[in-house]
Amino acid sequence: MDPRSRVWIFDLDDTLHHATPAVFPHINRSMTAYVAAQLGISDDAASALRVDYWHRYGATLLGLMRHHGTEPRHFLWHTHQFDDLSGLLNFESALRGILRRLPGRKIVFSNSPLHYAQAVLREMGVAPSFDTVYSIERTRFKPKPQRAGFLRMLRELHLAPSRCIMVEDSAANLRVAKCLGMKSVWLSRKRRRPSFVDVRIESILDLPRIIHRL
Ligand SMILES: [Mg+2]
Repeated sequence: MDPRSRVWIFDLDDTLHHATPAVFPHINRSMTAYVAAQLGISDDAASALRVDYWHRYGATLLGLMRHHGTEPRHFLWHTHQFDDLSGLLNFESALRGILRRLPGRKIVFSNSPLHYAQAVLREMGVAPSFDTVYSIERTRFKPKPQRAGFLRMLRELHLAPSRCIMVEDSAANLRVAKCLGMKSVWLSRKRRRPSFVDVRIESILDLPRIIHRL
């Protein structure tokens, strides 16, 4: 494949930056507070419900929409607010140069809301590297790994799956990408590589070294 005709589809959280140490705990606390306030329940009950919906539907939001009629944009706005995003962000400073040198079109495909994804990309100084951000709103609230969200993105952005390379920390999401005909790059420290993963990397900074294997 001509390297310039490639389309890189990047997950955001725990792929382009390390969300687990500080950003995810902040979002989880915000979601718990939101659920407690909206439903008039204790923080403990709200936290349990948040986790239960996350397990059952893959996203707290989907459970809230289904069982409580929550307005998704209201939820996403209020649960993704940061007084000091740059203080919470944890990412590789070499990322910007790596993305700039990577040949091909680049897209972010995230289960997060657009305002948050754009703020993270801006803070990391990598926003200009990306053509577009395909956020949870654009999937019409069909988060990965739901096929519907993938299919909508491919159709709307006129992407041929055979040209796409998906870079992700979630194996479940890569399974769908691979089924749809994309190449898959798994960001993980786990040794066992599932059959639907083409290449495993331990750091996003390894990307330039594995391009020839895709
Ligand atoms: Mg992720």
